[in-house]
Amino acid sequence: MIVSLKSDADPSRVLREIVARGLWVARVERDRSGRVAHYVIAPCSAAVDPDELARVEGVIGVTSSTPAWPLVDRQGPTVDIAGVRFGADRKVLLCGPCSIESEAHARGVAAELAAIGVAFLRGGAFKPRTSPYAFHGHGEIALGWMRRAADAAGLRVVTEVMSEADVPVVAEHAHLVQIGSRNMQNFALLRAVGQTGRAALLKRGMAATIEEWLLAGEHLLASGAAAVVFCERGVRGFDESTRNLLDLGAVALLAHVHRAPVVVDPSHGAGRRDLVAPLARAGIAAGAAGVMVEVHDDPASALSDGPQALPMVDLARLAAEITGGGR
Ligand code: PEP
Ligand code: MN
Repeated sequence: MIVSLKSDADPSRVLREIVARGLWVARVERDRSGRVAHYVIAPCSAAVDPDELARVEGVIGVTSSTPAWPLVDRQGPTVDIAGVRFGADRKVLLCGPCSIESEAHARGVAAELAAIGVAFLRGGAFKPRTSPYAFHGHGEIALGWMRRAADAAGLRVVTEVMSEADVPVVAEHAHLVQIGSRNMQNFALLRAVGQTGRAALLKRGMAATIEEWLLAGEHLLASGAAAVVFCERGVRGFDESTRNLLDLGAVALLAHVHRAPVVVDPSHGAGRRDLVAPLARAGIAAGAAGVMVEVHDDPASALSDGPQALPMVDLARLAAEITGGGR
């Protein structure tokens, strides 16, 4: 949106009116004599009626620019994925181990998750790991383990795809295809996932702006994805006390300003289990439609991310609090 000023306007007064409405000025454009001619409003500003701005003293006109992410806007705050509604009163829980460890393990976890009202079984068959020597997941075979375990327990599947080559097989097994933080702007992967027509869970890149995140969601929808759910999982911070810096402002912005379905992942956000429950609550308070949480029956023996995994009993308590109990 561009707010144009009359030549005799008081620019600081107009600016005050703009800021008071929750709008941010991304750019100031001046005329040849150096007077402020236009304020260009940042896309992540509050939703304000342009007619209201046009009535501000000193404003000559307001031009609405073409929306940058029309399909995300059109999708709205509520989406239905395989019968699970994100954005409704009931919060959605997406839980499971960091990686799918064996079929028997997945079955055991899935049965327990179903009993505490979790909707999606999460877990990686293909794991992005910082070290080449770390466990990278069991690959394709784990997709079958996971899907059978989820089906037997009445859960849906969310799992990550890391490479374009694996998109067909992941889309065949997952109800919700996860794009990991490290791939948020891998546009070829986004296109390939979109083209399957599946819904996608789009994790925020660890150094991505909100605008870049929304545009990555637009890529998915423009390529044919049935729906996009955004997932805040923390951005790089300067403090090493937590693994990442869970950006609750981003959750609030997506939920309340952009009105997009967003969930929060406090497990990767904090990287430590003692902070998972408080950050999950905070995410819900900020407007998240659901929470992704890593869980393990024996975190000490988890093949990846044990330190941030909640034991099942703690997850059960959190789930009851967040969903009000039941299925
Ligand atoms: C995950 O959820 O398994 C994962 C690897 O998360 P992220 O992409 O947020 O690091
Ligand atoms: Mn993990």
